[in-house]
Amino acid sequence: MKRVSAHSHPAISYFIMVLLVSSLVFGCQSDNETPRHLDSLSEAQLLPKPSETVDIDTGTSFINILSSNPQTNFPESLTFNVEIESSHEITDIELQYQINKVTTASVITTITPDFTPENHVLASWTWDTRKASLPPGAEINYQWLITNAAGDELETELTTFVFEDSRHSWNELVEGNIRLLWYKGDADFAQELMGAAQAALETIAQDTGAILERTARIYIYASTRDLQDALIFPQEWTGGLAFTDYGIITIGISPSSLSWGKKTIAHELTHLVVRQMTYSPLSDLPTWLNEGLAMYAEGDLRGDLEDSLEKAISNDTLFSIRSLGGSFPADPDEASLAYAQSYSITVFLINNYGSEKMSELLGVFKRGASYDEALLEVFGFDVDGLNIKWRDSL
Ligand SMILES: [Zn+2]
Repeated sequence: MKRVSAHSHPAISYFIMVLLVSSLVFGCQSDNETPRHLDSLSEAQLLPKPSETVDIDTGTSFINILSSNPQTNFPESLTFNVEIESSHEITDIELQYQINKVTTASVITTITPDFTPENHVLASWTWDTRKASLPPGAEINYQWLITNAAGDELETELTTFVFEDSRHSWNELVEGNIRLLWYKGDADFAQELMGAAQAALETIAQDTGAILERTARIYIYASTRDLQDALIFPQEWTGGLAFTDYGIITIGISPSSLSWGKKTIAHELTHLVVRQMTYSPLSDLPTWLNEGLAMYAEGDLRGDLEDSLEKAISNDTLFSIRSLGGSFPADPDEASLAYAQSYSITVFLINNYGSEKMSELLGVFKRGASYDEALLEVFGFDVDGLNIKWRDSL
């Protein structure tokens, strides 16, 4: 698993920076592809809607916002526009924005767009959203700070803008904490996928105690191709991605790949749940557990993965559990075995020690325990001990 800290721009000054600027995105194996982990920013809270126009009138001085409408050119860019009139020359314009995330901490970025000081000003700034790896549905909080030559300042209220993929006409199905968005296929198609999502939540809650604490949005693209058009990353990547820090999942599911789609939703949704349950600045989950839980929520192990596990057992070519704590191999066959083993190890722990122990284990990881410490505390053996017990069970 790779952690990437994100976002720097020479023309940008950060005026607040709290904790981390790093986060994770899980991209998971599907159709012989290997997982990818991408970068992004951090958290904020939903904030009240602003009024359209705010006046400052100190005698003869005033500043009016005539308009402020961000424009999306999904997925390439997001342009913030503002039109201002003032009794005096506008001398200073700042845009502050912050990506709204559900887990990691918060960064506010300040931009000073170019403009000519006049009484009536149009200013704009375009954000290259490809560099930020913004998923569809990402929420951005922003506000303007304007100063005029009389020394008056205007600070607009924080506004939330949703970076939607407006190239498609999205339908929405809501059930509990899950919002499913799709544009191709009938209501039954969406209901099938929603059923898979709800079933995965139930399985994970029952067998690990992990629950979805915040709303998850699942964007169903009509094909892997459509999804690729929506998410322009430099890396090769897969048919499903969980943007865990945003509470957003994107998947390309054509009607002919419904059963794959249901498994993938279960898988990615579990990454969201586990991330929400275990998030803290210190926590670090071993990859075998993270992927193992996601595979467990999918249901039975896929046939080809089962074969790869059987083969490795008979050839004595299993990976040690310790070697599965970090990044999985890039080689497709080795990656398949890594996933199959992760599933097997996780099932071993759940079946032999129960859901309460698994729940406890997630809690210990949240406190920042190392892999060995966490296993020792909950089960009384470390990673090597688990390796021996698990292999004995095969
Ligand atoms: Zn995964």
